[in-house]
Amino acid sequence: LEKEMARLERLDLIGQMAAGIGHEIRNPMTTVRGYLQYISKKDKYADEIETFQLMIEELDRANEIITEYLSLSQDRVVDFKRINLNTIIQHLYPILSVHTKMEDKSIELNLGSLPELYLDKKELCQLILNLVRNGLEAMPIKGKLTISTYIQQGNVILEVEDQGRGIPNEIKDKVGTPFFTTKLNGTGLGMAICYSIAERHNALIDLQSGPQGTKVRVKFQGAEEVKA
Ligand code: ADP
Ligand code: MG
Repeated sequence: LEKEMARLERLDLIGQMAAGIGHEIRNPMTTVRGYLQYISKKDKYADEIETFQLMIEELDRANEIITEYLSLSQDRVVDFKRINLNTIIQHLYPILSVHTKMEDKSIELNLGSLPELYLDKKELCQLILNLVRNGLEAMPIKGKLTISTYIQQGNVILEVEDQGRGIPNEIKDKVGTPFFTTKLNGTGLGMAICYSIAERHNALIDLQSGPQGTKVRVKFQGAEEVKA
């Protein structure tokens, strides 16, 4: 428990720092992006269009990283409302499938009937998005990712399963530690964010992984009490 508290405090500190500088950095970046886009349309730079595109993409990437850090900030307003988890997943689905369009990957939904829960929709979207991203990134060439929901022993379960490379046993404990990443371009924040979102929802995350892929289970405790 002590270790867990220390982890959460550390996360909060990172979030506070991000909130302090994130917004300030964003504004000039937006200006630069706008000018780049403007200049790139000029005829005399026609040969350089790909370079401009690359610069804009890099700015967008930097922006995404800031978003990731900002979501660790305590300043975020949590907004718990009664909602069906399946509704959130269905709304998110078109956005998720954009990630698979260019590749030989697919996302399948397997949604069982659920009671409503008190959830923060934005946070749940981010949790699901982070898990789906990791699942897709774990499948380098092709594969199927399945998002399932069901009830088990009175608890609502959300499951994201991929057919990727799996998480080696020796690093399993480190997943979710801020900045732990095995990826060249990873921030190592995705799972840390998932754990803190789960914690605010009284949910538990459990990783099952092998060479055939990874299954991340999020168990929302006390679903029965929330039921109408
Ligand atoms: P990032 O994706 O930026 O590396 P995350 O916190 O999302 O950061 O994930 C941390 C690490 O956990 C990843 O670098 C990867 O090694 C491992 N991981 C997470 N999810 C999966 C998954 N579905 N399959 C395999 N490895 C995973
Ligand atoms: Mg990630």
